[in-house]
Amino acid sequence: MPLPLRVAVVGAGLAGLTAAHDLAARGSEVVVLEAADRVGGKVRRADVAGVTVDVGAEAMLNRRPEGVGLAAELGLEVEHPAVTSSRIWTRGALRPLPRSLMGVPLDLDQLEASGVLSPEGLARVRLEPTLPPEVLDDDVTVGDLVARRLGEEVVDRLVEPLLGGVYAGHARLLSARAAVPQLLALARRGSLVELGAALPSGADTPVFAGLPGGMGRLPEALAAGLDVRLSTTVRGLERTEGGLRLVTGPTTAPVPLDVDAVVLATPAAASARLLAEVAPAAAADLADVEYASMAVVSLAFRVADAAALEATGSSGFLVPPVDGRRIKASTFSFAKWEWVRRAGAAAEEPLVYLRTSLGRHREEAALQASDEELVAWSLADLAEATGLTATPVDAHVQRWGGGLPQYALGHLDRVARVRAAVERVPGLAVCGAAYDGVGIPAVIASARAAVARLLPPEETAAR
Ligand SMILES: Cc1cc2nc3c(=O)[nH]c(=O)nc-3n(C[C@H](O)[C@H](O)[C@H](O)COP(=O)(O)OP(=O)(O)OC[C@H]3O[C@@H](n4cnc5c(N)ncnc54)[C@H](O)[C@@H]3O)c2cc1C
Repeated sequence: MPLPLRVAVVGAGLAGLTAAHDLAARGSEVVVLEAADRVGGKVRRADVAGVTVDVGAEAMLNRRPEGVGLAAELGLEVEHPAVTSSRIWTRGALRPLPRSLMGVPLDLDQLEASGVLSPEGLARVRLEPTLPPEVLDDDVTVGDLVARRLGEEVVDRLVEPLLGGVYAGHARLLSARAAVPQLLALARRGSLVELGAALPSGADTPVFAGLPGGMGRLPEALAAGLDVRLSTTVRGLERTEGGLRLVTGPTTAPVPLDVDAVVLATPAAASARLLAEVAPAAAADLADVEYASMAVVSLAFRVADAAALEATGSSGFLVPPVDGRRIKASTFSFAKWEWVRRAGAAAEEPLVYLRTSLGRHREEAALQASDEELVAWSLADLAEATGLTATPVDAHVQRWGGGLPQYALGHLDRVARVRAAVERVPGLAVCGAAYDGVGIPAVIASARAAVARLLPPEETAAR
């Protein structure tokens, strides 16, 4: 295949921007086409009572190198959460979140003291080390895996709220192979509780990192050096004699763009539409990937009103779906991020910021409410959980329709089939949250894998 000199990247989320950045650094001529009127995709900032805060992703894993590494490459300093202890709002109280591996408790005394489980639920957990290792040839859902080892209550009260945070998904629908491969590997060896507790705790490395000013600075910094065409929806993808053709513009006046290579960094449904002609098998597989929709409600309160939140001594709380609340989590951004605390304190009338999130996979109806209702539901739940009854100075509602892909049973096989079909089209690659992980580092890694497919390292070196 000739070296792809002219490359189009479709989608200016973190995956597309990372791919474009790396391709440009290796000497390709790159254009990024983005349907929205701004870059960043799910990473986005907005003004709330005069302070710019994240209204999409707000942190990245620090224990994987890709996100913090990219920030360093771009000259952006990271900040780690100032407060890392989280609570769980369940069984009528805010309780300490016991140490866990994606909800699997690792310290049973701590679990008992937290009161998160009933005495029966706890007794079931204590049986787990006596169970034989799991024999699992096929994929299994996270919920089934954990329930068979630790009982349903652990799934309902610990695994669900944690998965709700990462995927907005349901434990009993998400693939263990794709979402929690580490748990699956441990279960094949023996006790999740005992083997999990014996893993290195990594206590000296912060789990998360953010960017002072917001994660939204990451895509903005990436885009700064790139040719990004906003408000440009790509509607078609065709093969040409020497390469690939993208089609933009209105249906009545299509605008072709001929390139040597294309990186599709769009969510699954958009990628499915664009692949329909050149890789129909991949298109069919991607069309079946479901997404969860959600909303993030950002709230600003007067500092003087926030004592109830400070009193929790935490960075926020998670809510198990079984408890029947409207919100699924709240992050006390002012407590978690020093930059948010400082920015709020510097306001004319000192403010604190927090956010709630609502919405899970297949529960879109719960979001069919006005912004005012979403804010009112958030305030009602916050009041009951923490005693915060003050009226916010400002509220911002960010809806994320199709926010997070759901890795259903068989996801890894689906991704392998998609990649195989895409690879049969010279000069084509795909990346983004639909494939190898939804978190920021995983999305960056998928972009880098796409670039490596188009521009193998040895070809770069030979140029
Ligand atoms: C509310 C929320 C909170 C999150 N919080 C975190 C967090 O704290 N930490 C974390 O690690 N991850 C978090 N995530 C996940 C993470 O933010 C995303 O998985 C990741 O940013 C997705 O990046 P992406 O580039 O794959 O896709 P996207 O960000 O979805 O970008 C795809 C882009 O493609 C564009 N596009 C679509 N169709 C077309 C078309 N036909 N033509 C041109 N452009 C098109 C879209 O407009 C979009 O800009 C969160 C996600 C959500 C929704």
